[in-house]
Amino acid sequence: MGIIVQKFGGTSVADSDKIKNVANAVIKERLNGNDVVVVVSAMGHTTDNLVKLSNEITKNPDPREMDVLLSTGELISMSLLAMAIDDLGYKAVSLTGLQAGIKTENCHLHARILDIDTSRVKRHLLEGKIVVVAGFQGFCEESDITTLGRGGSDTTAVALACALNADRCDIYSDVEGVYTADPRIIHTAKKLKEISYDEMLELARVGANVLHPRSVEAAKLNNMKMRVRSSFKLDDLGTLIIGVDEMELNKPVTGFACDSSQVRIVICDIEDKPGNAAKLFNLLASEELSVDMIIQSYARNSKNTNDIAFTISKSDMAKFESIKNKINEIVNASNIYIDEDIVKVSIVGAGMIDRPGIAAKMFDTLASQNINIKMISTSEIKISCLIEKKYATQAACALCSIFNLDGAEMADVKGDLPPV
Ligand code: ADP
Ligand code: ASP
Ligand code: MG
Repeated sequence: MGIIVQKFGGTSVADSDKIKNVANAVIKERLNGNDVVVVVSAMGHTTDNLVKLSNEITKNPDPREMDVLLSTGELISMSLLAMAIDDLGYKAVSLTGLQAGIKTENCHLHARILDIDTSRVKRHLLEGKIVVVAGFQGFCEESDITTLGRGGSDTTAVALACALNADRCDIYSDVEGVYTADPRIIHTAKKLKEISYDEMLELARVGANVLHPRSVEAAKLNNMKMRVRSSFKLDDLGTLIIGVDEMELNKPVTGFACDSSQVRIVICDIEDKPGNAAKLFNLLASEELSVDMIIQSYARNSKNTNDIAFTISKSDMAKFESIKNKINEIVNASNIYIDEDIVKVSIVGAGMIDRPGIAAKMFDTLASQNINIKMISTSEIKISCLIEKKYATQAACALCSIFNLDGAEMADVKGDLPPV
């Protein structure tokens, strides 16, 4: 008998009928002869509503109290699912992050899992129970509740699967698998039968929110087989996420993603001397501000100064505003320019390694649409361009067409990119 970890996202447990549907999916896996551990997200938009509620109370909620509040969503769905499984004649027990032994860093709202004490989960499995665990939460010092960052239930599931040495971790969602692009935006995006950990990790990092990036990181590290599949089509095997050596790389680009959650900041006229970039980025790091793309311009001017541009998450803007004056003090900038009118479009593919011309093709495609590129960043298997927000959909269509990521001659667009 093996162990399968199943994770069901918010839409999969959005109402009581859907929770009953999940109970059936869990029992189906159990009838395959496996022990089953189930991780659940909060029902529907519960977490968004809890965030809204806190904003009605204060614009600056205490992170510890936010974690207490946000963790409640998953408690509702886990208990209802355990009841639904019981009702079908199977024994189930629901566990909070603390009860499931999920120990995290001593930090709130985006804690990393440090260790999982699986003894209680294993004991319940030995008792013949199906174990339902609240996703997205853990505990730190003094048993305080922590959360793992939005979308973090995927990471709970993979981390539990690794700690339990499970056979596979299945992430059930409202899509039938991982597609070449978000199928809600690019109507003709193609479902992938398989994708490598590295490609999935890059896609998740650049905006494909079908998986929490840290879940893919953990799966890769532990070589845990992961599937993304639909809660509503249980016979469909979805997409398998595996090591690159197990795959045939016959095309250079596997997927496209778009991220509209970033802001571009330009620090103008910093004196071109050793140590200035270090001072600037050390200050940002001390405020726990994560920086994504970075460009330093080479301005051959009489003042011997450069501009440094970088992007941060919109949700970190309040923190940035609070250190703006300090930045001015330490690097003596002439101006700090903030540009919120941007999106990052990215193409990802392990097959682009050692294949020249992919970047040129991406830039040509954007140029042919008269779209100006504001920033560029690359990794071995990813190219990202920052462009004006109004061109997001146009760029998505053109890039999906040119790199064969859609099933039509020209991508069929379902709607505009979602606002963040
Ligand atoms: P869950 O609540 O199940 O965790 P999410 O909303 O977090 O679901 O993730 C599923 C969503 O991810 C889909 O509804 C889809 O719009 C979006 N998505 C973005 N990029 C992709 C992609 N490349 N393939 C599949 N889905 C994607
Ligand atoms: N409920 C949390 C969120 O909405 C965690 C998750 O769904 O994975 O972000
Ligand atoms: Mg999710």
